[in-house]
Amino acid sequence: MPGEPRLEVAITVDDLPVHGDLPLNTTRAEIARRMIEAFKRKGVPGVYGFVNAKNIGTNGDTEKDSVLKIWGDSGFPLGNHTFSHIDLNTASAEAFEQEIVRNESVLEGLAGRRDWHWLRYPYLHEGDTLEKRRAVRKYLGDHGYKIAEVTLDFGDYAWNNPYARCVAKQDTGSIEWLKSSYLATAKEDIALDRKLSVMLFGRDIRYVLLLHIGALDSIMLPDLLDLLRNQGFDFVPLEEAQKDPAYQTDPDAALLHGGTFLEQLTESKHLNYPAHADRPIEKLDAICR
Ligand SMILES: [Zn+2]
Repeated sequence: MPGEPRLEVAITVDDLPVHGDLPLNTTRAEIARRMIEAFKRKGVPGVYGFVNAKNIGTNGDTEKDSVLKIWGDSGFPLGNHTFSHIDLNTASAEAFEQEIVRNESVLEGLAGRRDWHWLRYPYLHEGDTLEKRRAVRKYLGDHGYKIAEVTLDFGDYAWNNPYARCVAKQDTGSIEWLKSSYLATAKEDIALDRKLSVMLFGRDIRYVLLLHIGALDSIMLPDLLDLLRNQGFDFVPLEEAQKDPAYQTDPDAALLHGGTFLEQLTESKHLNYPAHADRPIEKLDAICR
């Protein structure tokens, strides 16, 4: 609609270089290239890829055609997702901080002059105790890191392993269902996250979408980007999105299940979630077994 304010979203991709099972006849490098190609074709700027350096050269990532090199060469920035995707619910603050440091030489080597001092918490777990949560936040601030928040999330990761299984079974009907339910869930959960934003801030904030570097993610990305455009979103870099003053709020709560920034605020304020359809987790678990 002319005159209607546009929405803004930054897109981020977690778990470089490897996420989820690799389907037959696909390589990690293809997944990375397919995502980068879609981002560039659809005009998505500055897509951060968050790195777990422990997984370099494992599970289909190769030195010759390295996912991190492909990402770095594309001009997109890289950020820190801890060395081994450590869980702050089970680790101490000190162990978590060591994992941040252990990831840095790789980032420094690949990012060039781009700013890699952004941390995405694995599992969106930011500390199950206030003491731990505050200790890590203080460490990040003292070491020049910003937290890469998440404010749009539809659990995209949950489709990648079922997709690999369905490819192995050549089950085209199930693959079609995976694709349609991926987009339907994205639409539903984006609507829910926008309702949370209006409930908490009285408006649509500038959003940050979480995706993962998985096989079905890479295939669905052009359709997902079209969906976002059709919903009224413009694409902006992470740095721009997080200039929204909403991100200066700190939920400052001990939350076992962590969650997105908007979910953390909803939980910490003991607010109710608006009505929404649940993700089809049971069907995803059962399909193509
Ligand atoms: Zn992750």
